[in-house]
Amino acid sequence: MTPPTALIAGAGIGGLAAALALERAGWNVRVFERAASPRELGFALNLAANAMAALDELGIAEPVLNGGHRTGVAEIRRPDGRALKRVYLPEAIGQAVAIVATRPVLHGALLAAVEHTCPGALELGAEAVDFEQDGSGVVLRLADGRDVRGDMLVGADGVGSAVRRRLHPHEGPPRSSGHHALRGVAHGVVELLGDVSAATYLGDGIEASIARAGRDAVYWYMSLLTADVGATAETPHELARRFVRRLDRTFTAIVEATQRGDVRLDQLFDREPLAQWGTGLVTLLGDAAHPMLPHTGQGAAQALEDAVALGLAVRQVEGLPAALRRYERIRSARTRALVVRGRRAAWITTTHNPVLKAVRTGLIRLVPARVMARMFMLVERTDPHRELRAL
Ligand SMILES: Cc1cc2nc3c(=O)[nH]c(=O)nc-3n(C[C@H](O)[C@H](O)[C@H](O)COP(=O)(O)OP(=O)(O)OC[C@H]3O[C@@H](n4cnc5c(N)ncnc54)[C@H](O)[C@@H]3O)c2cc1C
Repeated sequence: MTPPTALIAGAGIGGLAAALALERAGWNVRVFERAASPRELGFALNLAANAMAALDELGIAEPVLNGGHRTGVAEIRRPDGRALKRVYLPEAIGQAVAIVATRPVLHGALLAAVEHTCPGALELGAEAVDFEQDGSGVVLRLADGRDVRGDMLVGADGVGSAVRRRLHPHEGPPRSSGHHALRGVAHGVVELLGDVSAATYLGDGIEASIARAGRDAVYWYMSLLTADVGATAETPHELARRFVRRLDRTFTAIVEATQRGDVRLDQLFDREPLAQWGTGLVTLLGDAAHPMLPHTGQGAAQALEDAVALGLAVRQVEGLPAALRRYERIRSARTRALVVRGRRAAWITTTHNPVLKAVRTGLIRLVPARVMARMFMLVERTDPHRELRAL
């Protein structure tokens, strides 16, 4: 019997992970990516324990682990560099593994696995613009005029998702969250980190991090209030030099060592969580379904978890719409909580309010380092997929 076909819009972290999970569940997959070349820019990301568990389930934890840096000592610091909290992460999170890796390492591992297990599945320069459902399946319309038929459509096309727009035509566009992110990667400066793998600085209207992201890469990130960034003609590198004055000499040296082209400024967007993600044979995944602020450190992790959950939900093709709604119900409960957590974290980590800043410092002192580490790395006692596995 020919396997059913899943159409996936978008070849980001979520779309590629979904391709792997669905192939494992017995589906034929076709992935349509708008960009002419499949790539993630050279910045990095924190892959928390739950992200590594999902990668393990997708069979690609090893190459990502080998290309990234397993976080050892992590600190929360005052802007002048003095530590408020210090933790040895492997001890705090036990069996779990958390790393920081460059995006090309993660995306490259996903791409290589998709090319290996589903050769020819990925089509580049293929923009999804519309879809129709009928009694026997779903037809995806591409910008070049082609219609592609399949048994299911997954919109993994990011925060501005065309599939979501078609599913929810009355929803407005993503709105500004009031925050910007500045990020960069520096090379040849790993020794500046000393014995620390990662450090987060909490200052006045700024949250910033530095982290080792591989043999030679140091990733840095600043979360800023859009009001403080202002309407500026400064380049991202110039902006970074302006804001790094609020931080210590280590951070300054890392920013100074970053090539101009390796710095990027992004406005961060937010959306209200949807009551229902999809209809019929169409669903959403990753940022298309639940964009969340980077203050959770969980956007990619949740896209990876979505993919594992989707693969588990659609092991049988019979009753597919019901299986997709079950996937959405389980995933939307989990991701909704993180969207809210992200907003709260963004608010408290970038506040200018002196009382809130004092409360923040007090809380960091009060909460045991192990508890804090396990919460941020999403180390949990229960399997997020237990309900789907039990089916
Ligand atoms: C500053 C910052 C820091 C972050 N740090 C972390 C972190 O440390 N840890 C973490 O887990 N997450 C982090 N995230 C979140 C993470 O980057 C995202 O959640 C994740 O990349 C989402 O993946 P995705 O595949 O759902 O969407 P995307 O990465 O947006 O991929 C969507 C893909 O779809 C394609 N596409 C778009 N429209 C169409 C169309 N119409 N047709 C076909 N293709 C289309 C796009 O070209 C793209 O390739 C961070 C985000 C930001 C902004």
